[in-house]
Amino acid sequence: MTTPEKSPAPAFELVDPFGRGIEYLRVSVTDRCDFRCVYCMSEHMSFLPKQDLLTLEELDRLCSAFVRRGVRKLRITGGEPLVRRDIMTLFRSLSRHLDSGALQELTLTTNGSQLQRFARELAEYGVKRINVSLDTLDAEKFRAITRWGALDKVLAGIDAAQEAGLKVKINAVALKDFNEDEFVPMIRWAHGRGMDITFIEVMPLGEVDGHRADQYLPLSQMRAGLMDHLTLEESSHRTGGPARYFTAKETGGRIGFITPLTHNFCESCNRVRLTCTGTLFMCLGQEDAADLRKPLRQSESDDALMRAIEAAISRKPKGHDFVIDRKTNIPAVGRHMSMTGG
Ligand code: SAM
Repeated sequence: MTTPEKSPAPAFELVDPFGRGIEYLRVSVTDRCDFRCVYCMSEHMSFLPKQDLLTLEELDRLCSAFVRRGVRKLRITGGEPLVRRDIMTLFRSLSRHLDSGALQELTLTTNGSQLQRFARELAEYGVKRINVSLDTLDAEKFRAITRWGALDKVLAGIDAAQEAGLKVKINAVALKDFNEDEFVPMIRWAHGRGMDITFIEVMPLGEVDGHRADQYLPLSQMRAGLMDHLTLEESSHRTGGPARYFTAKETGGRIGFITPLTHNFCESCNRVRLTCTGTLFMCLGQEDAADLRKPLRQSESDDALMRAIEAAISRKPKGHDFVIDRKTNIPAVGRHMSMTGG
């Protein structure tokens, strides 16, 4: 009798020069957004002409090429991904990779403004977990930070997502003199609704109105402040992203911390980022990029595209060099988070 052989864990197909396996692709499907968050964009942004964007079919072909090369997790982001016309077509077509087992997770980062409309369909196409960005629970402050947003619409979107069975995680950027007094209430609110919440340090990406140092709040400091109100226990929970999690004993819920400034996590970086024009950024905080649109359009075969992907991964840098201080107000990179895909 032969004993069935246990198949070995799949080796990574795409490995960068530092030995990091790349299995996570974030895709910005549009640079446009229906909000103008003050730390993300300047008030008068100019956006790409629509004809420069890859079509949804082209985005599918690019994502599928990465899936064939071992990418297991796809996150659709932007700009605001749910404002791109017919975006559900892309979710629907990508869901075939979930059905085949090639893809482990198809997910989304959204500001929540359009979730009432799309939550059910997202669930239908195999999306299980989504991240909703929300920096305050105060309607006036929400309007001020997003310039254009309405809090009640986002809260209704979160309701719709939970009703559709999606697991929601809240992402909040920690902002000095803005939401410091809300961290504990926001944690209690999120945990009361069965949602994890992650806090993020503001990053020096793109020109914004004002000085980054006026926005920046180190999370090491913020976490110490939380301990006056909550008992935090380190958790081994990981979602494949950079957050480090703690469990609040009082609520039983999880709190994540993403600390690109105070504790850089580049050594475990497993991701690359694709823009809506087909540019691949191998690091959020570096300028080097690879054009995948040309090889994509050059031929119907994916050979040239695959070579371009491999060449790009072979140049993935070790990490970013973010600095925020009083002396300088120069972004680490000129592009905004909305272009690279946050
Ligand atoms: N529109 C979607 C949303 O709001 O989640 C997706 C794109 S948005 C650029 C993704 C995330 O990046 C949001 O959570 C936003 O708060 C965050 N973000 C934008 N600019 C940032 C910056 N300079 N530093 C840290 N986080 C930033």
